[in-house]
Amino acid sequence: MCIAQIIAAFKPKPVPELPVPDPPAPVLTIPHPEEPQDITQSMDNTIISDVVSRWKREWNVPDDWQGTIVLSEAMPYPGWTIGDVISIRPSWANPGVIAHEVAHVVYALLTDAEKDLFVAAYADALATDPLVKLMAQQHSYALTSSIEGHAECYRYLGMSLPETLKRFYPGLFA
Ligand SMILES: [Zn+2]
Repeated sequence: MCIAQIIAAFKPKPVPELPVPDPPAPVLTIPHPEEPQDITQSMDNTIISDVVSRWKREWNVPDDWQGTIVLSEAMPYPGWTIGDVISIRPSWANPGVIAHEVAHVVYALLTDAEKDLFVAAYADALATDPLVKLMAQQHSYALTSSIEGHAECYRYLGMSLPETLKRFYPGLFA
């Protein structure tokens, strides 16, 4: 074996071009995950207008949205709506709870025919939209009624709500 052959024997062989693997499928996540109760928040130290501002900013609510949201400890629920007045317990004063209650207020603005259309559109989204499916898997409360489903969709998905559902939230999407 001459020197040239020895060198040739040790010369690195060109690496064959390897196939580039497909990027992994994006992992779906809920855009607005549930925030835990905060028992340090009280009637005295919670500024509800700040929480409403956070909801409006993070859910991209149109500037001309108007509503009445107050702090209250009158009921044992995180939030409740009577007429168009939304009450939130201080420990539950977070944007997601506000979003849920606001959805109830706008649901009441729908006609009966629109509510029927929502039921059909929501059933369709539950069957076909991966994000709506994921939301309902993680939050089965969304399956208890069409009204709660309507509220949970908006609360957890916000702007990522399927386009087919946005029309059922008058005033909340520009
Ligand atoms: Zn509700």
